[in-house]
Amino acid sequence: MTDLPPPSKKKLGLVIDLDTCVGCHACAVSCKEWNAGGFAAPLTDEQPYGKDPAGVWFNRVHSYEVAPTQGCASSPTPQPAMTLHFPRSCLHCETPACVTVCPTGASYKRAEDGIVLVDEDKCIGCKLCSWACPYGAREYSEVEGVMKKCTLCIDRIYNENLAEAERQPACVQACPTRARHFGDLGDPESKVSRLVAERGGVDLLPQLGYQPVNKYLPPRPRRTGEAATAAPQDETLDTAALPPMLRWLDRVLSR
Ligand code: SF4
Ligand code: SF4
Ligand code: SF4
Repeated sequence: MTDLPPPSKKKLGLVIDLDTCVGCHACAVSCKEWNAGGFAAPLTDEQPYGKDPAGVWFNRVHSYEVAPTQGCASSPTPQPAMTLHFPRSCLHCETPACVTVCPTGASYKRAEDGIVLVDEDKCIGCKLCSWACPYGAREYSEVEGVMKKCTLCIDRIYNENLAEAERQPACVQACPTRARHFGDLGDPESKVSRLVAERGGVDLLPQLGYQPVNKYLPPRPRRTGEAATAAPQDETLDTAALPPMLRWLDRVLSR
């Protein structure tokens, strides 16, 4: 069985906003595209055009119809029915069972930043880790006979050949609604930690004790009754404060 390193100061991970995720699957497709050619390549497809297509995806988006009958911490009054999109990838847990069950040391947690990875050269394909992960975040490649998983795009985030703005996970870069955020959740002052504090971010299944680093931001309370049907307030634009080019554009479009 494989030992864990002492808890790292730096805890890289994702913060996923369930309020703004629209279930478009851009993150999942972008993840597959980047990782099929990078650190974890290839991510195989089996019978992609057949009756029962399958394959390796590090990130999957599930959509649910939810109709809460009672309030919760983030919204004390019961909410109207809604569609909730739930992206699911490795949560880079602090005490991951997937690592401690691994008999060969193939699954490991990095001491320097907490990223959980698989060394495919050591993996014997026993699948113990996928049984141990309660989040279903392990992906076995039938074709290669080894286990694969989200790498937190380690080959992007430290990649000095990329422009600095691009040193982010592919899924974060691709999200059109900016529902995915990447950063150091071990630093209470980081942008992601502040976002979690402001929005009441939560752990997935905290009662299991694996201490996921990734956090989910709950949906904001929906407007109900009069508030939901009220006409939007007119917005006034202070044209004098605009740059000259935009002032000209405003004049042209206002004719
Ligand atoms: S989410 Fe699953 S695969 Fe990822 S670190 Fe936690 S236990 Fe391991
Ligand atoms: S499938 Fe590979 S990574 Fe998972 S427990 Fe077995 S040897 Fe370790
Ligand atoms: S961090 Fe990278 S590997 Fe993980 S889900 Fe996002 S794109 Fe995929």
